[in-house]
Amino acid sequence: MKISGGCHCGAVYFTVSLPEPPVPALDCNCSICRRSGFLHVIVPHGEFSLERGEEALTSYRFGTGAAEHLFCRHCGVKGFYQPRSHPDSWSVNARCLDEPVALAIEAFNGRDWDEAKGRLDAGEQGG
Ligand SMILES: [Zn+2]
Repeated sequence: MKISGGCHCGAVYFTVSLPEPPVPALDCNCSICRRSGFLHVIVPHGEFSLERGEEALTSYRFGTGAAEHLFCRHCGVKGFYQPRSHPDSWSVNARCLDEPVALAIEAFNGRDWDEAKGRLDAGEQGG
């Protein structure tokens, strides 16, 4: 299933290929995700295409600096970014997709990141 999405002002626009719904999504409670309300759909780099807006993206790093939090410098919306948990994928914000997609939402305990990532790698959690 191919679907488009982007930031609020339209500067950043992308398309992604998603599996058949319900699409796995992670609801993370870490310091930045709970503030921004980001709902993670993990999309392999090859299944994501940035159609426009590369020049509008600016980035923010904190903590280990492994994740690159990208957001639109015009409207401030974070439609996708490079997560620390999945270095070969983008994390796309389900709330920034142009159409609603049925999701299978699982909690990701990003407040205790190492423990949560361990569970993810052990296959105890989807995504
Ligand atoms: Zn924007």
